[in-house]
Amino acid sequence: MAEPARHDAVELIRAKRDGRALTDDEIRWLIAAYTAGEVADEQMSALLMAVYFRGLAPAELRAWTAAMVGSGERLDLAAVGAPTVDKHSTGGVGDKVSLVLAPLVASCGAAVPQLSGRGLGHTGGTLDKLEAIPGWRAGLPAAEMIAVLRATGCVICAAGAGLAPADRKLYALRDVTGTVESIPLIASSIMSKKIAEGTAALVLDVKVGTGAFMTELPAARELAATMVSLGADAGVRTAALLTRMDVPLGRAVGNAVEVEEAVATLRGQGPPDLAEVTLALAAEMLALAGIEADPAAALADGRALDRYRSMIKAQGGDPDAPLPQARRAEPVTAGRAGWLWRLDARAVGVAAWRLGAGRARKEDPVSASAGVLCLAKPGERVEAGQPLLELRADDPSRFARARAALAGAIEIGPEPFAAAPLVIERVTA
Ligand code: URA
Repeated sequence: MAEPARHDAVELIRAKRDGRALTDDEIRWLIAAYTAGEVADEQMSALLMAVYFRGLAPAELRAWTAAMVGSGERLDLAAVGAPTVDKHSTGGVGDKVSLVLAPLVASCGAAVPQLSGRGLGHTGGTLDKLEAIPGWRAGLPAAEMIAVLRATGCVICAAGAGLAPADRKLYALRDVTGTVESIPLIASSIMSKKIAEGTAALVLDVKVGTGAFMTELPAARELAATMVSLGADAGVRTAALLTRMDVPLGRAVGNAVEVEEAVATLRGQGPPDLAEVTLALAAEMLALAGIEADPAAALADGRALDRYRSMIKAQGGDPDAPLPQARRAEPVTAGRAGWLWRLDARAVGVAAWRLGAGRARKEDPVSASAGVLCLAKPGERVEAGQPLLELRADDPSRFARARAALAGAIEIGPEPFAAAPLVIERVTA
């Protein structure tokens, strides 16, 4: 690609501020110059705020995303020898789907290159969860990532520094300038990394509800449609499912506890909501990969579990090693008898975070053993005094703030309650 002409950052800030669409060349220059340190953080901050208010037109967003992909390397997965398909979740509470889904879809014949992130705030990160397994390594050089993918059909690892470096810088800046919550900025951030990863197909799990980035359906729908069309424009077959995230997924929220629940699901003994979302996403992934297979059978007969064990071992982990256990556990009990109507996902996520399962800053460590077990889920009958949650942590000083996060999070009603379906709708190009 030809070098973009030099532009003036102040001119581009003024243009976006006043509602003029930026040209492809201006956008390419801006992203490249910012990544190279030639456009200052304060200038990019002003421009991001202008984008936050003015948005990006479809052509601008395509150019913006392409420039972010072009800021680094694009992996070539042609040598993998199977159709590649990945999944990305916009993040939720108790969302351990990747741990089950990647080996499940691999066991059906696809190759799943799952580049994942760490948790920030109340939503957990897949890498933090897997790091609860003794010996398991998240940081694989590209050649090793491809070797694991070829050998086991799936890999879950950290995105290398060479993939979409513009996003790394922009995301850190958005985080401290109040410009994260912008649909074009979120869509380009997610899709630039997925396009650079080299997958041929992608399924997006766009979570909607109190525990999600997008709390309202119309915004989630717009985000999903924006990402699906960015994928299609870049030649990545992309589809999205909008799934409900008002209640934690499964019963475990934390790191080691989520690994345990994922393994139970791979053994056919997991919670039904986790299996439902995982199988719905698996069906989408296999359809995009052009593979006819029955993922429910692969889960039931142990093939997916075998893949999981091979993947963990290939990344240095011992799938049979005992997982860290918290030194202390405290219950949260039901104040009255009735039917559990509400268990707020966000509050449970914040409680798990305060117990030590998540981090407040990128560089903070996480506790492998801290977390929350949801002993009851909405729709279930509960008795007064019955434990509804179990809070777990090593450090006794963490429990009071975790309990405070749960104030108002639990509602018990007088009659039965039927939970709404988890998969809300599909979005395709
Ligand atoms: N996840 C990302 O990778 N980027 C965003 O902007 C938001 C969530």
